[in-house]
Amino acid sequence: MEFDLIARHFTRATPGAVLGVGDDCALLAPTPGMQLAVSSDMLLEGRHFSPQDSPAGLGHKSLAVNLSDLAAMGATPRWATLAIALPEANDAWLTAFARGFFRMADQHGIELVGGDTTRGPLTISITVMGEVPPGEALRRDGARPGDDVWVSGVIGSAAMALAYRQGRLFMEQVDAARVLPALYLPTPRVALGIALRGVASSAIDISDGLLGDLGHILQRSQRGARLEFAALPTLPVVQAYLHEKVARDCVLAGGDDYELCFTAPPGKHDAVRAAAGNAGVAVTRIGHITAEPGLAVVAPDGQPLPFERTGYDHFAA
Ligand code: ADP
Ligand code: MG
Repeated sequence: MEFDLIARHFTRATPGAVLGVGDDCALLAPTPGMQLAVSSDMLLEGRHFSPQDSPAGLGHKSLAVNLSDLAAMGATPRWATLAIALPEANDAWLTAFARGFFRMADQHGIELVGGDTTRGPLTISITVMGEVPPGEALRRDGARPGDDVWVSGVIGSAAMALAYRQGRLFMEQVDAARVLPALYLPTPRVALGIALRGVASSAIDISDGLLGDLGHILQRSQRGARLEFAALPTLPVVQAYLHEKVARDCVLAGGDDYELCFTAPPGKHDAVRAAAGNAGVAVTRIGHITAEPGLAVVAPDGQPLPFERTGYDHFAA
Protein backbone atom coordinates (compact mmCIF):
# COMPACT_ATOMS: atom_id res chain seq x y z
CA MET A 1 0.00 0.00 0.00
CA GLU A 2 2.70 2.27 1.07
CA PHE A 3 4.69 3.76 -1.79
CA ASP A 4 2.24 6.51 -2.47
CA LEU A 5 1.69 7.17 1.20
CA ILE A 6 5.43 7.40 1.88
CA ALA A 7 5.96 9.71 -1.07
CA ARG A 8 3.13 12.00 0.00
CA HIS A 9 3.65 12.17 3.75
CA PHE A 10 7.20 11.23 4.62
CA THR A 11 9.40 12.30 1.75
CA ARG A 12 11.15 15.63 2.20
CA ALA A 13 14.36 17.16 0.95
CA THR A 14 17.26 15.93 3.09
CA PRO A 15 20.23 18.20 2.37
CA GLY A 16 22.04 16.79 5.42
CA ALA A 17 22.06 13.24 3.99
CA VAL A 18 23.82 11.76 0.97
CA LEU A 19 20.60 9.85 0.15
CA GLY A 20 17.25 10.04 1.96
CA VAL A 21 13.90 8.24 1.57
CA GLY A 22 13.40 6.11 -1.55
CA ASP A 23 16.19 3.57 -1.84
CA ASP A 24 16.94 0.35 0.06
CA CYS A 25 18.97 2.31 2.60
CA ALA A 26 19.65 5.92 3.40
CA LEU A 27 23.26 7.01 2.97
CA LEU A 28 24.69 9.21 5.71
CA ALA A 29 28.07 10.88 5.98
CA PRO A 30 28.80 11.70 9.63
CA THR A 31 30.95 14.76 10.24
CA PRO A 32 34.59 13.56 10.30
CA GLY A 33 35.87 13.11 13.84
CA MET A 34 32.45 13.07 15.49
CA GLN A 35 30.86 10.14 17.32
CA LEU A 36 27.36 8.98 16.43
CA ALA A 37 24.75 8.85 19.23
CA VAL A 38 21.87 6.51 18.33
CA SER A 39 18.64 5.85 20.22
CA SER A 40 15.19 4.32 19.57
CA ASP A 41 11.87 4.82 21.33
CA MET A 42 8.60 3.09 20.54
CA LEU A 43 5.10 4.43 21.27
CA LEU A 44 2.13 2.05 21.43
CA GLU A 45 -1.51 3.03 21.31
CA GLY A 46 -3.15 2.26 24.64
CA ARG A 47 0.12 2.31 26.49
CA HIS A 48 1.84 5.58 25.53
CA PHE A 49 -1.06 7.43 23.97
CA SER A 50 -4.80 7.01 23.53
CA PRO A 51 -6.81 6.73 20.29
CA GLN A 52 -8.41 10.14 20.95
CA ASP A 53 -5.08 11.98 21.04
CA SER A 54 -4.49 14.51 18.28
CA PRO A 55 -2.36 13.06 15.44
CA ALA A 56 -0.35 16.30 15.15
CA GLY A 57 0.41 16.12 18.87
CA LEU A 58 1.43 12.51 18.45
CA GLY A 59 3.81 13.42 15.63
CA HIS A 60 5.32 16.08 17.89
CA LYS A 61 5.59 13.87 20.96
CA SER A 62 6.91 10.73 19.26
CA LEU A 63 9.86 12.67 17.84
CA ALA A 64 10.26 14.84 20.98
CA VAL A 65 10.78 11.85 23.30
CA ASN A 66 13.47 10.56 20.94
CA LEU A 67 15.15 13.97 20.69
CA SER A 68 15.10 14.06 24.48
CA ASP A 69 17.48 11.07 24.52
CA LEU A 70 19.88 12.92 22.21
CA ALA A 71 19.59 15.95 24.51
CA ALA A 72 20.44 13.83 27.54
CA MET A 73 23.58 12.66 25.74
CA GLY A 74 24.63 16.16 24.67
CA ALA A 75 24.32 15.16 21.01
CA THR A 76 23.43 17.40 18.05
CA PRO A 77 20.41 15.90 16.21
CA ARG A 78 21.11 14.87 12.59
CA TRP A 79 18.93 12.05 11.22
CA ALA A 80 15.85 10.02 12.10
CA THR A 81 14.04 6.96 10.78
CA LEU A 82 10.35 6.27 11.37
CA ALA A 83 8.80 2.80 11.48
CA ILE A 84 5.04 3.08 11.67
CA ALA A 85 2.23 0.51 11.80
CA LEU A 86 -1.19 1.86 10.84
CA PRO A 87 -4.58 0.13 11.02
CA GLU A 88 -5.63 1.95 7.83
CA ALA A 89 -4.17 4.51 5.42
CA ASN A 90 -6.09 7.50 6.76
CA ASP A 91 -4.91 10.50 4.76
CA ALA A 92 -6.17 13.21 7.13
CA TRP A 93 -4.58 11.46 10.10
CA LEU A 94 -1.25 11.06 8.29
CA THR A 95 -1.24 14.67 7.12
CA ALA A 96 -1.70 15.91 10.69
CA PHE A 97 0.82 13.44 12.11
CA ALA A 98 3.42 14.48 9.54
CA ARG A 99 2.77 18.17 10.28
CA GLY A 100 3.51 17.68 13.99
CA PHE A 101 6.48 15.45 13.25
CA PHE A 102 8.18 17.74 10.72
CA ARG A 103 7.53 20.84 12.79
CA MET A 104 9.48 19.29 15.65
CA ALA A 105 12.10 18.00 13.19
CA ASP A 106 12.60 21.43 11.63
CA GLN A 107 12.96 23.08 15.04
CA HIS A 108 15.88 20.81 15.83
CA GLY A 109 17.51 20.38 12.41
CA ILE A 110 16.86 16.63 12.23
CA GLU A 111 16.05 14.99 8.87
CA LEU A 112 13.80 11.98 8.23
CA VAL A 113 15.91 9.73 6.02
CA GLY A 114 13.99 6.44 6.01
CA GLY A 115 11.73 4.04 7.81
CA ASP A 116 9.16 1.34 7.33
CA THR A 117 5.40 1.42 6.89
CA THR A 118 3.09 -1.50 7.52
CA ARG A 119 -0.50 -2.32 8.41
CA GLY A 120 -1.19 -3.15 12.05
CA PRO A 121 -2.21 -1.76 15.44
CA LEU A 122 -1.04 1.87 15.60
CA THR A 123 2.63 1.78 16.65
CA ILE A 124 5.30 4.42 16.16
CA SER A 125 8.96 3.51 16.43
CA ILE A 126 11.56 6.18 15.80
CA THR A 127 15.33 5.96 15.71
CA VAL A 128 17.33 9.16 16.04
CA MET A 129 20.98 9.75 15.27
CA GLY A 130 23.04 12.65 16.51
CA GLU A 131 26.66 13.70 16.71
CA VAL A 132 28.90 14.44 19.67
CA PRO A 133 32.64 15.20 19.88
CA PRO A 134 34.66 12.25 21.24
CA GLY A 135 34.77 12.21 25.02
CA GLU A 136 32.09 14.91 25.41
CA ALA A 137 28.91 12.80 25.55
CA LEU A 138 26.92 13.25 28.78
CA ARG A 139 26.93 9.71 30.11
CA ARG A 140 25.17 8.29 33.16
CA ASP A 141 28.33 7.02 34.82
CA GLY A 142 30.18 10.28 35.43
CA ALA A 143 28.67 11.59 38.70
CA ARG A 144 31.23 12.17 41.47
CA PRO A 145 30.80 12.76 45.23
CA GLY A 146 30.23 16.46 45.93
CA ASP A 147 28.77 17.15 42.45
CA ASP A 148 25.64 19.28 42.44
CA VAL A 149 22.44 17.68 41.12
CA TRP A 150 20.47 19.92 38.76
CA VAL A 151 17.15 19.71 36.96
CA SER A 152 15.83 21.79 34.05
CA GLY A 153 12.37 23.38 33.83
CA VAL A 154 9.65 22.17 36.20
CA ILE A 155 8.67 18.60 37.08
CA GLY A 156 5.42 16.88 38.04
CA SER A 157 3.32 18.70 35.42
CA ALA A 158 2.94 15.80 32.99
CA ALA A 159 1.87 13.43 35.78
CA MET A 160 -0.80 15.91 36.86
CA ALA A 161 -1.98 16.31 33.28
CA LEU A 162 -2.31 12.55 32.90
CA ALA A 163 -4.28 12.21 36.13
CA TYR A 164 -6.56 15.04 34.96
CA ARG A 165 -7.06 13.49 31.52
CA GLN A 166 -7.88 10.12 33.06
CA GLY A 167 -10.48 11.70 35.37
CA ARG A 168 -8.53 10.90 38.52
CA LEU A 169 -7.92 14.55 39.41
CA PHE A 170 -10.17 17.59 39.15
CA MET A 171 -8.69 20.88 37.95
CA GLU A 172 -10.17 24.17 36.80
CA GLN A 173 -9.72 24.43 33.03
CA VAL A 174 -7.37 27.40 33.33
CA ASP A 175 -5.11 25.36 35.61
CA ALA A 176 -5.33 22.21 33.50
CA ALA A 177 -4.16 24.32 30.55
CA ARG A 178 -0.94 25.02 32.45
CA VAL A 179 0.01 21.33 32.75
CA LEU A 180 -1.45 19.70 29.63
CA PRO A 181 1.34 20.90 27.27
CA ALA A 182 3.90 19.04 29.41
CA LEU A 183 2.09 15.79 28.60
CA TYR A 184 1.08 16.36 24.98
CA LEU A 185 3.73 18.74 23.64
CA PRO A 186 6.92 18.09 25.61
CA THR A 187 9.97 20.22 24.79
CA PRO A 188 13.19 18.23 24.37
CA ARG A 189 16.08 20.13 26.00
CA VAL A 190 18.38 19.75 23.02
CA ALA A 191 20.14 23.14 23.24
CA LEU A 192 20.74 22.66 26.96
CA GLY A 193 22.26 19.20 26.45
CA ILE A 194 24.67 20.57 23.84
CA ALA A 195 25.57 23.57 26.04
CA LEU A 196 26.36 21.21 28.93
CA ARG A 197 29.14 19.39 27.03
CA GLY A 198 32.31 19.74 29.05
CA VAL A 199 30.28 21.14 31.98
CA ALA A 200 28.00 18.36 33.27
CA SER A 201 29.57 15.18 34.68
CA SER A 202 26.47 13.06 33.93
CA ALA A 203 22.95 13.50 32.56
CA ILE A 204 19.66 11.69 31.93
CA ASP A 205 16.27 12.79 30.68
CA ILE A 206 13.32 12.37 33.03
CA SER A 207 10.88 10.01 31.35
CA ASP A 208 9.96 7.71 34.24
CA GLY A 209 10.16 10.14 37.17
CA LEU A 210 12.97 12.07 38.88
CA LEU A 211 13.87 9.47 41.51
CA GLY A 212 13.82 6.52 39.15
CA ASP A 213 15.85 8.30 36.48
CA LEU A 214 18.33 9.88 38.89
CA GLY A 215 18.57 6.34 40.31
CA HIS A 216 20.02 5.23 36.94
CA ILE A 217 22.77 7.86 37.23
CA LEU A 218 23.49 6.77 40.81
CA GLN A 219 23.61 3.11 39.85
CA ARG A 220 25.89 3.64 36.86
CA SER A 221 28.10 6.04 38.84
CA GLN A 222 28.00 3.83 41.98
CA ARG A 223 27.12 6.82 44.16
CA GLY A 224 24.20 8.16 46.21
CA ALA A 225 22.41 11.50 46.38
CA ARG A 226 20.77 13.81 48.88
CA LEU A 227 17.98 15.99 47.49
CA GLU A 228 16.37 19.02 49.15
CA PHE A 229 12.65 18.61 48.61
CA ALA A 230 11.93 22.34 49.00
CA ALA A 231 14.29 23.10 46.11
CA LEU A 232 12.44 20.98 43.52
CA PRO A 233 10.99 23.22 40.77
CA THR A 234 7.23 22.76 40.27
CA LEU A 235 4.28 24.78 39.07
CA PRO A 236 2.07 26.36 41.78
CA VAL A 237 -0.85 24.12 40.65
CA VAL A 238 0.90 21.12 42.23
CA GLN A 239 0.52 22.54 45.74
CA ALA A 240 -2.86 24.06 44.92
CA TYR A 241 -4.52 20.76 43.97
CA LEU A 242 -2.64 17.98 45.69
CA HIS A 243 -2.37 16.94 49.31
CA GLU A 244 1.16 17.04 50.66
CA LYS A 245 1.98 13.36 50.27
CA VAL A 246 0.43 13.06 46.82
CA ALA A 247 2.22 16.23 45.70
CA ARG A 248 5.49 14.76 46.91
CA ASP A 249 5.00 11.51 44.98
CA CYS A 250 3.89 13.43 41.90
CA VAL A 251 7.04 15.59 41.87
CA LEU A 252 9.46 12.85 42.86
CA ALA A 253 8.04 10.02 40.76
CA GLY A 254 5.76 11.52 38.09
CA GLY A 255 6.94 10.56 34.60
CA ASP A 256 6.85 12.03 31.10
CA ASP A 257 8.29 15.50 31.83
CA TYR A 258 11.34 15.11 29.55
CA GLU A 259 13.39 17.58 31.55
CA LEU A 260 17.10 16.93 32.02
CA CYS A 261 18.53 15.82 35.36
CA PHE A 262 22.30 16.28 35.43
CA THR A 263 25.28 16.58 37.74
CA ALA A 264 28.22 18.99 37.68
CA PRO A 265 31.11 19.77 40.06
CA PRO A 266 30.41 22.78 42.35
CA GLY A 267 33.23 24.63 40.56
CA LYS A 268 31.13 24.52 37.38
CA HIS A 269 28.19 26.35 38.99
CA ASP A 270 28.67 29.48 36.89
CA ALA A 271 29.27 27.43 33.74
CA VAL A 272 25.97 25.59 34.34
CA ARG A 273 24.16 28.91 34.73
CA ALA A 274 25.78 30.24 31.56
CA ALA A 275 24.85 27.07 29.61
CA ALA A 276 21.24 27.35 30.78
CA GLY A 277 21.18 31.05 29.89
CA ASN A 278 22.48 30.33 26.39
CA ALA A 279 19.91 27.57 25.93
CA GLY A 280 17.10 29.74 27.31
CA VAL A 281 16.09 27.12 29.90
CA ALA A 282 15.73 27.53 33.66
CA VAL A 283 17.82 25.16 35.77
CA THR A 284 17.62 24.52 39.51
CA ARG A 285 20.16 22.98 41.87
CA ILE A 286 18.25 20.32 43.85
CA GLY A 287 20.92 18.51 45.91
CA HIS A 288 24.28 16.81 45.70
CA ILE A 289 25.96 13.47 45.04
CA THR A 290 27.21 11.46 48.02
CA ALA A 291 30.03 8.90 48.13
CA GLU A 292 27.87 6.31 49.86
CA PRO A 293 25.05 4.78 47.78
CA GLY A 294 21.39 5.53 48.57
CA LEU A 295 18.96 8.30 47.77
CA ALA A 296 17.66 10.61 50.50
CA VAL A 297 15.10 13.38 50.11
CA VAL A 298 15.21 15.83 53.01
CA ALA A 299 12.86 18.48 54.41
CA PRO A 300 14.15 22.01 55.18
CA ASP A 301 14.87 20.86 58.77
CA GLY A 302 17.14 18.13 57.42
CA GLN A 303 14.73 15.30 58.29
CA PRO A 304 14.43 12.58 55.62
CA LEU A 305 11.04 12.47 53.88
CA PRO A 306 9.30 9.21 53.04
CA PHE A 307 8.55 8.76 49.33
CA GLU A 308 7.24 6.31 46.79
CA ARG A 309 9.08 5.73 43.56
CA THR A 310 5.94 5.15 41.52
CA GLY A 311 3.77 8.19 41.77
CA TYR A 312 0.73 8.48 39.69
CA ASP A 313 -1.44 5.69 41.13
CA HIS A 314 -1.78 7.85 44.22
CA PHE A 315 -3.98 10.34 42.42
CA ALA A 316 -6.86 7.88 42.69
CA ALA A 317 -9.28 9.40 45.18
P1 ADP B 1 12.07 -1.93 1.40
O1 ADP B 1 11.04 -2.89 0.94
O2 ADP B 1 13.33 -1.91 0.61
O3 ADP B 1 12.32 -2.02 2.90
P2 ADP B 1 10.14 0.09 1.74
O4 ADP B 1 9.04 -0.08 0.75
O5 ADP B 1 9.90 -0.41 3.11
O6 ADP B 1 11.47 -0.48 1.14
O7 ADP B 1 10.50 1.63 1.82
C1 ADP B 1 10.77 2.37 0.65
C2 ADP B 1 11.53 3.61 1.06
O8 ADP B 1 10.70 4.42 1.88
C3 ADP B 1 12.78 3.33 1.87
O9 ADP B 1 13.75 4.30 1.54
C4 ADP B 1 12.32 3.51 3.31
O10 ADP B 1 13.38 3.89 4.15
C5 ADP B 1 11.29 4.62 3.15
N1 ADP B 1 10.22 4.59 4.14
C6 ADP B 1 9.29 3.64 4.36
N2 ADP B 1 8.42 3.98 5.32
C7 ADP B 1 8.82 5.20 5.76
C8 ADP B 1 8.34 6.10 6.74
N3 ADP B 1 7.26 5.82 7.50
N4 ADP B 1 9.00 7.25 6.91
C9 ADP B 1 10.09 7.54 6.17
N5 ADP B 1 10.58 6.77 5.22
C10 ADP B 1 9.95 5.59 5.01
MG1 MG C 1 10.78 -1.77 4.41
